[in-house]
Amino acid sequence: MPAPKDYYKILEVDEKADANTIKQSYRRLARKYHPDIGGKAVEDKFKEINEAYEVLSDANRRRDYDRLRRGYAERESRSQGAGFRRVAYDWSNDVGGGFGSIFDDLFSSGHDRRGNIPRPVPEESVRITLEQVATGTTANLTINDVKECVVCHGRDGNCPRCGGLGQISEPKRFDVAIPAGIVDGDVLKVGEHARLRIEVAPHPRFARQKDNIVGRLMVAVPLAVVGGEVPVRPLVGEEMMVKIPPRTNHGRMLRLKGMGLTHRGSLVKGDMLLEVALRFPEPITQEDTLLYQELLTHHQESGGEIRAPR
Ligand SMILES: [Zn+2]
Repeated sequence: MPAPKDYYKILEVDEKADANTIKQSYRRLARKYHPDIGGKAVEDKFKEINEAYEVLSDANRRRDYDRLRRGYAERESRSQGAGFRRVAYDWSNDVGGGFGSIFDDLFSSGHDRRGNIPRPVPEESVRITLEQVATGTTANLTINDVKECVVCHGRDGNCPRCGGLGQISEPKRFDVAIPAGIVDGDVLKVGEHARLRIEVAPHPRFARQKDNIVGRLMVAVPLAVVGGEVPVRPLVGEEMMVKIPPRTNHGRMLRLKGMGLTHRGSLVKGDMLLEVALRFPEPITQEDTLLYQELLTHHQESGGEIRAPR
């Protein structure tokens, strides 16, 4: 963020110079750098001098300008202060595109610049579980919120409460409602200007694919062959029985409609997708081995075909 132009330096006067001193210095410089004398080479310098004089020769504008300079200096020093450690600032979203254009506004449209001061946007993050994504949750946390100074409302450059910035940053407790279906990386607006970034922790049993949840379902070989039911613990809610069709092969995808996540802001629900993973019941007893042996003698097929990996 660029600093505001130093009009005092341009006019070669002290910050405390009175109106008469400023006027005399301006006249001297305007003569020295007049394009009629110096030509094109001094044109920009001449414009700069006039711009500076336009502001510093007007008592109201000069006061505004001084306030702006003080605010800038304070912001610079504050942004390095320890109290801001947990807070990330993002200037890129400031209305008006930073200091330059706000500064232009200030002097092109008179003195009504209330609410035009660029605001730092505090951002915090919170980590939630996939279960909380499914149900929605509330986060109770303290965030530095930036709000307008209630003492001066930005009108007093010497305000002791805000130091002339017109705004103050203070920690505040919030109960933030996190809607069901929220996506990792989503940002919620909190308070007046703070923001909360949502992180979703990896889940031990399910992966997320948009509104669907995907997991691998272990199924014992005999049950997969003859079919039956297995107990399944969904993401949220009570254990349920899931039907395994007869001759279910390894890798078969079972879809449980509406057992996924609610799409944020709607009633639409995703599905639970379970990829069947066959396994032998353990341990294998001697009796089991005999049964498998008997199965083997019934079948000619013993495997051996090679297929490309999926
Ligand atoms: Zn104030």
